[in-house]
Amino acid sequence: MPTSNENLLHPMSEHFLAWHIAATHNKTRLEQAGGGVCSACKTHLDIDELDWIDDTAQCPECGVDCIIPITLLVGVPEEALEAFRVHWHTPGDELLS
Ligand SMILES: [Zn+2]
Repeated sequence: MPTSNENLLHPMSEHFLAWHIAATHNKTRLEQAGGGVCSACKTHLDIDELDWIDDTAQCPECGVDCIIPITLLVGVPEEALEAFRVHWHTPGDELLS
């Protein structure tokens, strides 16, 4: 039977795509934003706290290169960032073992 939940989740998936794109080659975006949030460990990081791989920011806390510019997170509920983290950074079966 049809579920309205799928429709409700759809706008969030648009966030996911924008975040994923913004998490790489994002030096200019992050400099403009002044910092970002690590989508893996959800640490808030100022621009001068970030490590860099070429023009892609890397989290100094967990080493993951998936930093979302803070400007893309304005007004976004915590649940959405958590869902993104689970979607991109949960390594499947390893979580349960
Ligand atoms: Zn991190």
